[in-house]
Amino acid sequence: MSDAQTIVIVGSGHAGAQVAASLRQEKFAGEILMFGDEPGLPYQRPPLSKTYMKDGNPDRLLIRNQTFFDDNAIVLRNETRVAAIDREAHEIVLADGERQRYDHLVLATGAVNRALPIPGIDLEGVLELRTLAHAEDIRGRMGAADHIAIIGGGFIGLEFAAMARGLGTDVTVLELADRVMARAIAPETSAYFDEFHRSIGVDLRLGAGVDKIIDRDDGHTGGVVLKDGTRVEADLVLVAAGVAARDELAREAGLPVENGIVVDTMLQTADPAISAIGDCASFIHPLGDSRMRIESVQNATDQARAVALRLAEGQGGGGHPPYSGFPWFWSDQGDRKLQIAGLTAGANGRVVRRNDRGGFLVHCFRDGRYIGLETVNAPGDHLMARRLLAAGVELDRTALEEAGYDLKAFKNRL
Ligand SMILES: Cc1cc2nc3c(=O)[nH]c(=O)nc-3n(C[C@H](O)[C@H](O)[C@H](O)COP(=O)(O)OP(=O)(O)OC[C@H]3O[C@@H](n4cnc5c(N)ncnc54)[C@H](O)[C@@H]3O)c2cc1C
Repeated sequence: MSDAQTIVIVGSGHAGAQVAASLRQEKFAGEILMFGDEPGLPYQRPPLSKTYMKDGNPDRLLIRNQTFFDDNAIVLRNETRVAAIDREAHEIVLADGERQRYDHLVLATGAVNRALPIPGIDLEGVLELRTLAHAEDIRGRMGAADHIAIIGGGFIGLEFAAMARGLGTDVTVLELADRVMARAIAPETSAYFDEFHRSIGVDLRLGAGVDKIIDRDDGHTGGVVLKDGTRVEADLVLVAAGVAARDELAREAGLPVENGIVVDTMLQTADPAISAIGDCASFIHPLGDSRMRIESVQNATDQARAVALRLAEGQGGGGHPPYSGFPWFWSDQGDRKLQIAGLTAGANGRVVRRNDRGGFLVHCFRDGRYIGLETVNAPGDHLMARRLLAAGVELDRTALEEAGYDLKAFKNRL
Protein backbone atom coordinates (compact mmCIF):
# COMPACT_ATOMS: atom_id res chain seq x y z
CA MET A 1 0.00 0.00 0.00
CA SER A 2 1.53 3.37 -0.97
CA ASP A 3 2.31 5.93 1.71
CA ALA A 4 -0.12 8.38 0.14
CA GLN A 5 -2.99 6.08 0.99
CA THR A 6 -5.61 6.33 3.71
CA ILE A 7 -6.55 3.48 6.01
CA VAL A 8 -9.79 3.90 7.92
CA ILE A 9 -10.52 1.72 10.95
CA VAL A 10 -14.05 1.34 12.32
CA GLY A 11 -13.98 0.39 16.00
CA SER A 12 -11.46 1.54 18.60
CA GLY A 13 -11.33 -1.56 20.81
CA HIS A 14 -8.49 -4.06 21.16
CA ALA A 15 -8.38 -4.89 17.45
CA GLY A 16 -8.80 -1.33 16.14
CA ALA A 17 -6.15 0.15 18.45
CA GLN A 18 -3.70 -2.65 17.62
CA VAL A 19 -4.09 -2.41 13.86
CA ALA A 20 -3.36 1.33 14.04
CA ALA A 21 -0.30 0.81 16.25
CA SER A 22 1.00 -2.10 14.16
CA LEU A 23 0.61 -0.16 10.91
CA ARG A 24 3.03 2.45 12.28
CA GLN A 25 5.35 -0.25 13.63
CA GLU A 26 5.39 -1.71 10.12
CA LYS A 27 6.35 1.76 8.81
CA PHE A 28 3.08 2.56 7.06
CA ALA A 29 3.39 6.31 6.45
CA GLY A 30 -0.04 7.10 5.02
CA GLU A 31 -3.05 8.46 6.85
CA ILE A 32 -4.67 6.41 9.65
CA LEU A 33 -8.11 7.37 10.91
CA MET A 34 -9.90 5.41 13.60
CA PHE A 35 -13.60 5.87 14.42
CA GLY A 36 -15.09 4.59 17.66
CA ASP A 37 -18.56 5.13 19.07
CA GLU A 38 -17.48 4.99 22.73
CA PRO A 39 -16.09 7.98 24.63
CA GLY A 40 -12.42 8.28 25.58
CA LEU A 41 -9.32 6.40 24.52
CA PRO A 42 -9.25 2.68 23.59
CA TYR A 43 -9.28 0.56 26.75
CA GLN A 44 -8.95 -3.06 27.81
CA ARG A 45 -12.21 -4.89 28.45
CA PRO A 46 -11.01 -7.94 30.46
CA PRO A 47 -10.48 -6.03 33.76
CA LEU A 48 -14.10 -4.77 33.63
CA SER A 49 -15.36 -8.05 35.14
CA LYS A 50 -12.29 -8.51 37.32
CA THR A 51 -10.03 -5.86 38.94
CA TYR A 52 -11.91 -2.75 37.75
CA MET A 53 -14.93 -3.61 39.89
CA LYS A 54 -12.68 -3.36 42.94
CA ASP A 55 -10.30 -0.51 42.11
CA GLY A 56 -12.56 1.57 39.84
CA ASN A 57 -9.55 3.16 38.16
CA PRO A 58 -10.23 3.72 34.43
CA ASP A 59 -6.68 4.99 33.75
CA ARG A 60 -5.29 1.50 34.33
CA LEU A 61 -7.45 0.21 31.50
CA LEU A 62 -5.97 2.33 28.71
CA ILE A 63 -4.40 0.40 25.83
CA ARG A 64 -2.33 3.46 24.76
CA ASN A 65 -2.30 7.04 26.01
CA GLN A 66 -3.15 10.15 23.99
CA THR A 67 0.54 10.94 23.41
CA PHE A 68 0.93 7.63 21.57
CA PHE A 69 -1.85 8.52 19.14
CA ASP A 70 -0.48 12.07 18.67
CA ASP A 71 3.13 10.94 18.22
CA ASN A 72 2.11 8.31 15.68
CA ALA A 73 -0.26 10.54 13.72
CA ILE A 74 -3.22 8.28 14.37
CA VAL A 75 -6.40 10.30 14.25
CA LEU A 76 -8.90 8.93 16.77
CA ARG A 77 -12.45 10.16 16.47
CA ASN A 78 -14.32 8.88 19.48
CA GLU A 79 -18.05 9.13 20.17
CA THR A 80 -18.44 8.94 16.41
CA ARG A 81 -20.59 6.17 14.98
CA VAL A 82 -20.04 4.98 11.45
CA ALA A 83 -23.50 4.51 9.98
CA ALA A 84 -22.79 3.08 6.53
CA ILE A 85 -20.18 2.05 3.99
CA ASP A 86 -20.41 3.33 0.43
CA ARG A 87 -18.28 0.66 -1.23
CA GLU A 88 -18.54 2.15 -4.71
CA ALA A 89 -17.21 5.52 -3.58
CA HIS A 90 -14.72 3.96 -1.11
CA GLU A 91 -16.24 6.08 1.65
CA ILE A 92 -17.69 5.58 5.08
CA VAL A 93 -20.67 7.64 6.14
CA LEU A 94 -20.91 8.93 9.71
CA ALA A 95 -24.16 9.13 11.65
CA ASP A 96 -24.37 12.89 10.90
CA GLY A 97 -23.88 12.35 7.16
CA GLU A 98 -20.19 13.33 7.00
CA ARG A 99 -18.18 11.20 4.60
CA GLN A 100 -14.59 9.96 4.79
CA ARG A 101 -12.74 8.36 1.90
CA TYR A 102 -10.60 5.25 2.36
CA ASP A 103 -8.17 3.22 0.29
CA HIS A 104 -8.51 0.34 2.71
CA LEU A 105 -11.17 -0.09 5.38
CA VAL A 106 -10.64 -2.27 8.46
CA LEU A 107 -13.79 -3.32 10.30
CA ALA A 108 -13.02 -3.94 13.98
CA THR A 109 -16.52 -3.45 15.30
CA GLY A 110 -16.46 -6.12 18.01
CA ALA A 111 -19.58 -7.63 19.50
CA VAL A 112 -22.69 -6.68 21.41
CA ASN A 113 -24.30 -8.50 24.33
CA ARG A 114 -27.22 -10.73 23.42
CA ALA A 115 -30.44 -9.33 24.81
CA LEU A 116 -32.80 -11.95 26.21
CA PRO A 117 -36.33 -11.81 24.82
CA ILE A 118 -38.00 -12.20 28.22
CA PRO A 119 -40.49 -10.05 30.11
CA GLY A 120 -38.88 -7.55 32.47
CA ILE A 121 -35.61 -7.21 30.55
CA ASP A 122 -36.02 -3.40 30.43
CA LEU A 123 -36.57 -2.96 34.18
CA GLU A 124 -34.28 -0.71 36.20
CA GLY A 125 -31.50 -2.75 37.81
CA VAL A 126 -31.26 -5.24 34.94
CA LEU A 127 -27.68 -4.78 33.82
CA GLU A 128 -25.21 -5.83 31.16
CA LEU A 129 -21.43 -5.66 31.00
CA ARG A 130 -19.51 -4.96 27.82
CA THR A 131 -18.28 -1.37 28.09
CA LEU A 132 -16.59 0.88 30.62
CA ALA A 133 -19.87 2.81 30.89
CA HIS A 134 -21.66 -0.42 31.87
CA ALA A 135 -18.94 -1.23 34.43
CA GLU A 136 -19.15 2.26 35.97
CA ASP A 137 -22.92 1.93 36.23
CA ILE A 138 -22.66 -1.50 37.89
CA ARG A 139 -19.98 -0.29 40.32
CA GLY A 140 -22.24 2.55 41.36
CA ARG A 141 -25.05 0.12 42.18
CA MET A 142 -23.12 -2.73 43.79
CA GLY A 143 -22.70 -1.03 47.19
CA ALA A 144 -26.44 -0.98 47.78
CA ALA A 145 -27.06 -4.52 46.54
CA ASP A 146 -27.21 -7.47 48.94
CA HIS A 147 -28.04 -10.05 46.30
CA ILE A 148 -27.30 -10.23 42.60
CA ALA A 149 -28.67 -12.78 40.14
CA ILE A 150 -26.48 -13.49 37.11
CA ILE A 151 -28.10 -14.94 34.02
CA GLY A 152 -25.43 -16.98 32.26
CA GLY A 153 -22.63 -19.17 33.63
CA GLY A 154 -20.08 -18.29 30.96
CA PHE A 155 -16.71 -16.60 31.48
CA ILE A 156 -18.02 -13.12 32.19
CA GLY A 157 -20.90 -14.24 34.42
CA LEU A 158 -18.56 -16.39 36.51
CA GLU A 159 -15.77 -13.81 36.73
CA PHE A 160 -18.34 -11.34 37.94
CA ALA A 161 -19.79 -13.88 40.38
CA ALA A 162 -16.39 -14.48 42.01
CA MET A 163 -15.69 -10.76 42.14
CA ALA A 164 -19.09 -10.05 43.76
CA ARG A 165 -18.59 -12.81 46.34
CA GLY A 166 -15.24 -11.17 47.14
CA LEU A 167 -17.17 -8.00 47.96
CA GLY A 168 -19.49 -9.98 50.23
CA THR A 169 -22.55 -9.86 47.94
CA ASP A 170 -24.88 -12.88 47.74
CA VAL A 171 -24.76 -14.30 44.22
CA THR A 172 -27.00 -16.69 42.32
CA VAL A 173 -25.81 -17.84 38.89
CA LEU A 174 -28.50 -19.18 36.56
CA GLU A 175 -27.12 -21.33 33.76
CA LEU A 176 -29.35 -22.97 31.17
CA ALA A 177 -26.88 -25.74 30.24
CA ASP A 178 -26.03 -28.65 32.51
CA ARG A 179 -22.52 -27.35 33.17
CA VAL A 180 -20.74 -23.99 33.32
CA MET A 181 -18.82 -22.49 30.36
CA ALA A 182 -20.07 -25.50 28.36
CA ARG A 183 -19.53 -23.90 24.95
CA ALA A 184 -15.85 -23.31 25.48
CA ILE A 185 -14.24 -25.76 27.90
CA ALA A 186 -13.97 -29.47 28.70
CA PRO A 187 -16.52 -31.08 31.06
CA GLU A 188 -13.70 -31.77 33.56
CA THR A 189 -12.76 -28.08 33.68
CA SER A 190 -16.44 -27.15 34.07
CA ALA A 191 -16.66 -29.56 37.01
CA TYR A 192 -13.59 -27.96 38.59
CA PHE A 193 -15.13 -24.48 38.40
CA ASP A 194 -18.55 -25.75 39.49
CA GLU A 195 -16.93 -26.94 42.71
CA PHE A 196 -14.87 -23.77 43.10
CA HIS A 197 -17.83 -21.40 42.75
CA ARG A 198 -19.94 -23.38 45.18
CA SER A 199 -16.98 -23.39 47.61
CA ILE A 200 -16.91 -19.58 47.68
CA GLY A 201 -20.65 -19.44 48.29
CA VAL A 202 -22.08 -18.90 44.81
CA ASP A 203 -25.58 -20.36 44.55
CA LEU A 204 -25.09 -22.07 41.19
CA ARG A 205 -28.19 -23.40 39.46
CA LEU A 206 -27.72 -25.51 36.33
CA GLY A 207 -30.45 -26.29 33.80
CA ALA A 208 -32.06 -23.04 34.97
CA GLY A 209 -34.12 -21.38 32.24
CA VAL A 210 -35.29 -17.87 33.12
CA ASP A 211 -38.96 -17.23 32.43
CA LYS A 212 -39.15 -13.57 33.41
CA ILE A 213 -37.58 -10.81 35.42
CA ILE A 214 -39.69 -9.62 38.35
CA ASP A 215 -40.88 -6.01 38.77
CA ARG A 216 -40.57 -4.95 42.42
CA ASP A 217 -43.68 -2.82 41.69
CA ASP A 218 -41.70 0.38 41.14
CA GLY A 219 -40.13 -0.35 37.76
CA HIS A 220 -37.04 -1.83 39.42
CA THR A 221 -36.22 -5.52 39.32
CA GLY A 222 -36.78 -7.68 42.38
CA GLY A 223 -35.24 -10.84 40.92
CA VAL A 224 -36.21 -13.52 38.44
CA VAL A 225 -38.67 -16.35 37.99
CA LEU A 226 -37.37 -19.59 36.51
CA LYS A 227 -39.22 -21.76 34.00
CA ASP A 228 -40.06 -24.25 36.75
CA GLY A 229 -41.71 -21.44 38.75
CA THR A 230 -38.87 -20.98 41.29
CA ARG A 231 -38.40 -17.36 42.38
CA VAL A 232 -34.91 -15.98 42.93
CA GLU A 233 -35.05 -12.70 44.84
CA ALA A 234 -32.30 -10.23 43.88
CA ASP A 235 -31.61 -6.48 44.00
CA LEU A 236 -29.79 -6.53 40.67
CA VAL A 237 -29.84 -8.86 37.66
CA LEU A 238 -26.80 -9.11 35.40
CA VAL A 239 -27.51 -10.58 31.97
CA ALA A 240 -24.37 -12.32 30.73
CA ALA A 241 -25.80 -14.62 28.11
CA GLY A 242 -23.20 -14.32 25.37
CA VAL A 243 -22.58 -11.88 22.53
CA ALA A 244 -23.38 -11.43 18.86
CA ALA A 245 -20.97 -10.01 16.27
CA ARG A 246 -21.49 -6.38 15.28
CA ASP A 247 -21.71 -7.17 11.59
CA GLU A 248 -24.54 -4.81 10.63
CA LEU A 249 -22.36 -2.32 8.73
CA ALA A 250 -20.94 -5.09 6.56
CA ARG A 251 -24.35 -6.73 6.03
CA GLU A 252 -25.97 -3.45 4.98
CA ALA A 253 -23.08 -2.83 2.57
CA GLY A 254 -23.84 -6.17 0.86
CA LEU A 255 -20.87 -8.11 2.26
CA PRO A 256 -21.44 -11.75 3.26
CA VAL A 257 -22.05 -12.30 6.99
CA GLU A 258 -22.40 -15.63 8.74
CA ASN A 259 -22.29 -15.28 12.52
CA GLY A 260 -19.84 -12.43 11.86
CA ILE A 261 -18.29 -10.73 8.87
CA VAL A 262 -17.07 -13.41 6.48
CA VAL A 263 -13.36 -13.08 5.70
CA ASP A 264 -10.93 -15.28 3.78
CA THR A 265 -7.75 -16.82 5.17
CA MET A 266 -6.04 -13.41 4.95
CA LEU A 267 -8.89 -11.71 6.89
CA GLN A 268 -10.13 -9.93 3.79
CA THR A 269 -13.85 -9.62 3.10
CA ALA A 270 -15.46 -10.27 -0.30
CA ASP A 271 -14.42 -6.69 -1.11
CA PRO A 272 -10.59 -6.54 -1.50
CA ALA A 273 -10.61 -2.99 -0.08
CA ILE A 274 -12.18 -4.13 3.22
CA SER A 275 -10.78 -6.39 5.96
CA ALA A 276 -12.42 -7.50 9.22
CA ILE A 277 -10.71 -8.51 12.46
CA GLY A 278 -11.41 -9.40 16.08
CA ASP A 279 -14.72 -10.36 17.65
CA CYS A 280 -16.69 -9.33 14.53
CA ALA A 281 -14.80 -11.54 12.04
CA SER A 282 -15.87 -15.02 10.93
CA PHE A 283 -12.75 -16.77 9.66
CA ILE A 284 -11.20 -20.16 9.02
CA HIS A 285 -8.26 -21.07 11.22
CA PRO A 286 -5.82 -23.72 9.98
CA LEU A 287 -6.25 -25.56 13.31
CA GLY A 288 -10.04 -25.69 13.00
CA ASP A 289 -12.24 -27.46 10.51
CA SER A 290 -14.91 -24.84 10.01
CA ARG A 291 -15.59 -21.13 10.04
CA MET A 292 -15.32 -19.61 13.52
CA ARG A 293 -15.41 -16.40 15.49
CA ILE A 294 -13.08 -16.09 18.46
CA GLU A 295 -13.83 -13.64 21.26
CA SER A 296 -10.45 -13.06 22.85
CA VAL A 297 -7.77 -10.43 23.24
CA GLN A 298 -5.23 -12.76 21.60
CA ASN A 299 -7.40 -13.14 18.52
CA ALA A 300 -8.12 -9.39 18.23
CA THR A 301 -4.45 -8.49 18.68
CA ASP A 302 -2.93 -11.14 16.42
CA GLN A 303 -5.47 -10.57 13.62
CA ALA A 304 -4.77 -6.82 13.84
CA ARG A 305 -1.03 -7.44 13.51
CA ALA A 306 -1.53 -9.75 10.54
CA VAL A 307 -3.70 -7.26 8.66
CA ALA A 308 -1.34 -4.37 9.44
CA LEU A 309 1.59 -6.36 8.04
CA ARG A 310 -0.33 -7.21 4.87
CA LEU A 311 -1.42 -3.61 4.32
CA ALA A 312 1.97 -2.10 5.14
CA GLU A 313 3.57 -4.47 2.66
CA GLY A 314 1.22 -3.12 0.06
CA GLN A 315 -0.82 -6.25 -0.37
CA GLY A 316 -4.46 -5.43 -0.39
CA GLY A 317 -5.13 -8.76 -2.04
CA GLY A 318 -3.65 -12.22 -2.65
CA GLY A 319 -0.18 -13.60 -2.19
CA HIS A 320 -0.04 -13.19 1.57
CA PRO A 321 0.24 -16.16 3.94
CA PRO A 322 -2.99 -17.20 5.69
CA TYR A 323 -3.65 -15.91 9.19
CA SER A 324 -2.50 -18.57 11.67
CA GLY A 325 -2.17 -16.82 15.06
CA PHE A 326 -2.10 -19.53 17.72
CA PRO A 327 -5.27 -19.30 19.87
CA TRP A 328 -4.95 -18.89 23.64
CA PHE A 329 -7.20 -17.45 26.29
CA TRP A 330 -7.45 -16.68 30.00
CA SER A 331 -10.21 -16.05 32.51
CA ASP A 332 -9.58 -15.01 36.13
CA GLN A 333 -12.26 -16.22 38.53
CA GLY A 334 -11.42 -15.30 42.11
CA ASP A 335 -7.94 -16.67 42.77
CA ARG A 336 -8.28 -19.24 39.98
CA LYS A 337 -6.63 -18.48 36.64
CA LEU A 338 -8.09 -20.53 33.82
CA GLN A 339 -5.88 -20.62 30.73
CA ILE A 340 -6.54 -22.35 27.45
CA ALA A 341 -3.89 -23.12 24.83
CA GLY A 342 -5.28 -24.21 21.46
CA LEU A 343 -8.79 -24.90 20.18
CA THR A 344 -9.70 -27.43 22.84
CA ALA A 345 -13.44 -27.42 22.09
CA GLY A 346 -12.77 -29.91 19.25
CA ALA A 347 -11.31 -32.55 21.60
CA ASN A 348 -12.59 -36.14 21.60
CA GLY A 349 -10.11 -37.39 24.19
CA ARG A 350 -8.94 -35.84 27.45
CA VAL A 351 -6.58 -36.66 30.30
CA VAL A 352 -6.80 -34.87 33.66
CA ARG A 353 -3.65 -34.32 35.71
CA ARG A 354 -2.52 -32.18 38.65
CA ASN A 355 0.97 -30.74 38.77
CA ASP A 356 3.15 -30.70 41.87
CA ARG A 357 2.24 -27.04 42.56
CA GLY A 358 -1.47 -27.70 42.92
CA GLY A 359 -2.34 -26.76 39.33
CA PHE A 360 -5.13 -28.52 37.46
CA LEU A 361 -4.60 -29.62 33.85
CA VAL A 362 -6.78 -31.12 31.14
CA HIS A 363 -4.73 -32.38 28.19
CA CYS A 364 -6.92 -32.44 25.07
CA PHE A 365 -6.60 -34.78 22.10
CA ARG A 366 -8.32 -35.17 18.82
CA ASP A 367 -8.10 -38.65 17.31
CA GLY A 368 -5.02 -39.29 19.45
CA ARG A 369 -3.24 -36.05 18.42
CA TYR A 370 -2.48 -33.41 21.05
CA ILE A 371 -4.51 -30.25 20.31
CA GLY A 372 -4.43 -28.20 23.50
CA LEU A 373 -4.34 -27.76 27.22
CA GLU A 374 -6.78 -26.27 29.70
CA THR A 375 -5.14 -25.32 33.01
CA VAL A 376 -6.06 -23.73 36.31
CA ASN A 377 -3.27 -22.00 38.25
CA ALA A 378 -0.61 -23.69 36.13
CA PRO A 379 0.87 -20.85 34.04
CA GLY A 380 4.14 -22.69 33.35
CA ASP A 381 2.35 -25.68 31.82
CA HIS A 382 0.12 -23.34 29.81
CA LEU A 383 3.11 -21.51 28.39
CA MET A 384 4.91 -24.74 27.51
CA ALA A 385 1.82 -26.09 25.70
CA ARG A 386 1.49 -22.82 23.84
CA ARG A 387 5.12 -22.83 22.76
CA LEU A 388 5.05 -26.46 21.62
CA LEU A 389 1.76 -26.24 19.77
CA ALA A 390 2.47 -22.84 18.20
CA ALA A 391 5.79 -24.22 16.94
CA GLY A 392 3.86 -27.07 15.29
CA VAL A 393 5.45 -29.81 17.44
CA GLU A 394 3.36 -32.94 16.84
CA LEU A 395 2.58 -34.86 20.04
CA ASP A 396 0.51 -37.99 20.39
CA ARG A 397 -1.11 -39.57 23.39
CA THR A 398 1.38 -42.43 23.65
CA ALA A 399 4.37 -40.07 23.74
CA LEU A 400 2.70 -37.93 26.40
CA GLU A 401 1.78 -40.96 28.46
CA GLU A 402 5.39 -42.16 28.34
CA ALA A 403 6.54 -38.72 29.54
CA GLY A 404 4.08 -38.82 32.44
CA TYR A 405 2.23 -35.87 30.82
CA ASP A 406 5.15 -33.59 31.59
CA LEU A 407 5.32 -31.18 28.64
CA LYS A 408 8.82 -30.05 29.61
CA ALA A 409 10.03 -33.45 28.37
CA PHE A 410 9.43 -32.18 24.81
CA LYS A 411 11.28 -28.88 25.20
CA ASN A 412 14.13 -30.12 23.03
CA ARG A 413 11.74 -30.34 20.06
CA LEU A 414 11.32 -26.55 20.04
C1 LIG B 1 -16.19 -7.93 30.65
C2 LIG B 1 -15.31 -8.63 29.64
C3 LIG B 1 -14.28 -9.45 30.08
C4 LIG B 1 -13.46 -10.09 29.15
N1 LIG B 1 -12.44 -10.88 29.59
C5 LIG B 1 -11.59 -11.46 28.71
C6 LIG B 1 -10.49 -12.24 29.14
O1 LIG B 1 -10.29 -12.46 30.34
N2 LIG B 1 -9.64 -12.76 28.21
C7 LIG B 1 -9.83 -12.54 26.86
O2 LIG B 1 -9.03 -13.01 26.05
N3 LIG B 1 -10.89 -11.82 26.42
C8 LIG B 1 -11.77 -11.27 27.30
N4 LIG B 1 -12.83 -10.53 26.85
C9 LIG B 1 -13.08 -10.45 25.40
C10 LIG B 1 -12.24 -9.35 24.77
O3 LIG B 1 -12.36 -8.16 25.49
C11 LIG B 1 -12.72 -9.18 23.33
O4 LIG B 1 -12.47 -10.37 22.63
C12 LIG B 1 -12.00 -8.00 22.67
O5 LIG B 1 -12.38 -6.80 23.28
C13 LIG B 1 -12.33 -7.95 21.18
O6 LIG B 1 -11.76 -6.81 20.63
P1 LIG B 1 -12.44 -6.09 19.35
O7 LIG B 1 -11.59 -4.90 19.06
O8 LIG B 1 -12.69 -7.10 18.31
O9 LIG B 1 -13.86 -5.63 19.86
P2 LIG B 1 -14.23 -4.55 20.96
O10 LIG B 1 -13.19 -4.50 22.02
O11 LIG B 1 -15.63 -4.84 21.36
O12 LIG B 1 -14.18 -3.16 20.19
C14 LIG B 1 -15.08 -2.81 19.17
C15 LIG B 1 -15.35 -1.33 19.23
O13 LIG B 1 -15.99 -0.93 18.04
C16 LIG B 1 -17.02 -0.01 18.35
N5 LIG B 1 -17.97 0.04 17.21
C17 LIG B 1 -18.77 -0.95 16.76
N6 LIG B 1 -19.48 -0.54 15.70
C18 LIG B 1 -19.12 0.75 15.48
C19 LIG B 1 -19.53 1.73 14.52
N7 LIG B 1 -20.43 1.47 13.58
N8 LIG B 1 -18.96 2.97 14.58
C20 LIG B 1 -18.02 3.25 15.52
N9 LIG B 1 -17.60 2.36 16.44
C21 LIG B 1 -18.15 1.12 16.43
C22 LIG B 1 -17.58 -0.60 19.63
O14 LIG B 1 -18.37 0.31 20.35
C23 LIG B 1 -16.30 -0.95 20.37
O15 LIG B 1 -15.80 0.16 21.06
C24 LIG B 1 -13.68 -9.89 27.77
C25 LIG B 1 -14.73 -9.06 27.33
C26 LIG B 1 -15.54 -8.44 28.25
C27 LIG B 1 -16.67 -7.56 27.78
